[in-house]
Amino acid sequence: MSSSGPSRSPDVTWHRGELTRERRLEALGARGGATVWFTGLSGSGKSTIAAALEARLVAEGRPAYLLDGDNLRHGLNGDLGFDQAARDENVRRTGEVARLFADAGLVALVSLVSPYAAARGAVRALHEADGLAFLEVWVSTPPEECARRDPKGLWARAERGELSGLTGVDAPYEAPRAAEVELTGELGVAAAVGRVCGALERPTYAR
Ligand code: ADP
Repeated sequence: MSSSGPSRSPDVTWHRGELTRERRLEALGARGGATVWFTGLSGSGKSTIAAALEARLVAEGRPAYLLDGDNLRHGLNGDLGFDQAARDENVRRTGEVARLFADAGLVALVSLVSPYAAARGAVRALHEADGLAFLEVWVSTPPEECARRDPKGLWARAERGELSGLTGVDAPYEAPRAAEVELTGELGVAAAVGRVCGALERPTYAR
């Protein structure tokens, strides 16, 4: 792994470890890490699909770990709000954690609205610079369907004027232009999981 991104620590030098990624994978018995990044509106199904994918990968013997954006806001990202800078920082931190997990040999599954394309692109670049597979999965369930499902009641609260800055209502969502996988809202969870597993089996990601 290499250092990357802007650093506020000019006096800190990167300390190289003794192990190669391959040696670590051998010890784990793992095939290779990757990051699968689910982006889409609230209620689109990111967490549901990612959790089902996590269960399937682990059942198949491929270590995986779900980094759920809402859950991370209870800890690592608990100090962040919802303006653009905070959302970008949320994506940056989560991307750094996912990269570490992928480097360690896990399939890191990230479910995060991540509305801004540039921030998602920076996470992709971080992985690519490090030789780590990155799959962007756009859960493209349309807003009307997200609002109908509304598992957390956010769309209803926005509708009643009790919540501002909901992505897709009064905050922007920049849809991916070149996601590796698009999951449309009418796909069932099992079919969605199957699509992503299929993508993970492509030679570039199946290492
Ligand atoms: P997000 O993580 O994108 O905010 P969630 O996964 O938390 O979304 O919520 C999606 C909701 O929609 C869940 O209650 C889930 O059971 C429901 N749902 C209905 N159909 C689907 C589907 N085809 N794919 C994913 N979730 C679905």
